[in-house]
Amino acid sequence: TALLAFLKAGDHVVLQNMLYGGTQNLVTKQFEKFGISYSFTEGLKPIDFEAKIKKNTKVIYIETPSNPLLTITDLAAVANIAKKYNLISMIDNTFASPVNQNPIDFGIDVVIHSATKYMGGHSDICAGAVASSKVNMERIFQLAINLGGSLSDYTVWLLERSIKTMGIRVKSQNENAMRLAEYLDKNADIKQVNYPGLTSHPDHALAKSQMNGFGGMLSFELKESINATDFRKALKLIKSSMSLAGIESTVLSPTQTSHALLSAEERYKQGIADGLIRFSLGIEEPEDLIADIEQALERVKAKQPALNNQ
Ligand SMILES: *Cc1c(COP(=O)(O)O)cnc(C)c1O
Repeated sequence: TALLAFLKAGDHVVLQNMLYGGTQNLVTKQFEKFGISYSFTEGLKPIDFEAKIKKNTKVIYIETPSNPLLTITDLAAVANIAKKYNLISMIDNTFASPVNQNPIDFGIDVVIHSATKYMGGHSDICAGAVASSKVNMERIFQLAINLGGSLSDYTVWLLERSIKTMGIRVKSQNENAMRLAEYLDKNADIKQVNYPGLTSHPDHALAKSQMNGFGGMLSFELKESINATDFRKALKLIKSSMSLAGIESTVLSPTQTSHALLSAEERYKQGIADGLIRFSLGIEEPEDLIADIEQALERVKAKQPALNNQ
């Protein structure tokens, strides 16, 4: 709704090349019939966004930290480019949540959230949120009414209750993610850990400059000798789940779920390996999460049959 509120037939939108699979699917499958053209950037540097701007460009759309590789896009740089060319800058701020990142402070015009995630926080509702100036919100809200997306009273009630604990939930999730990222980074069975809170993350300094916390999401790649599906099935406490940001820790394989709508070639281009595991940290004791990962790795390495409990 936010995108369509600012785009009409003949317009063009520049989008970051690493986006939530569903967003990418919406753009590539639906925009053509509305007469809206689009370009995905080659990289995430400010120059990559500027390179794709055309005479009819109206919107720049970003997502940071990104899903599932946790790359970081420079908020202030994108906001400045948008101002220079008189464009609307828009961000999917879902992974950070409003606790960890406030893009409007950096000059971004429109902030969208999947409220299904950290705002809801209990994996029991589906909702969305958008924040912008009063003028922009009137425009978005009018279109929302026309498009017909509206929440039930029960969903709104759950969402209002959930938002009251978002601050403490997300802080606990930040702490767990940092702790588990450090543990996984030192684990010989793990090839690569993607978490902006690690000093080894290529964009750690940028993340530190624009985030209040590094978030409850990370991803990691197992060594080739460890099968990712077997590993997920051997976990007992940490369940496999499509969604994220609940108070319980969950994992998924992007190849099989969030990015299944993309072709193998598109996934390869984005650097999403088959052995990649996305990890959404809950509010459990970190020792319990580490113990679960340890036992799952031991089980898979000993070639014991999967528990098939998921
Ligand atoms: C889940 C998610 C969405 C989609 O949200 P829904 O509430 O499931 O429609 C969009 N962006 C990101 C980054 C997400 O994680």
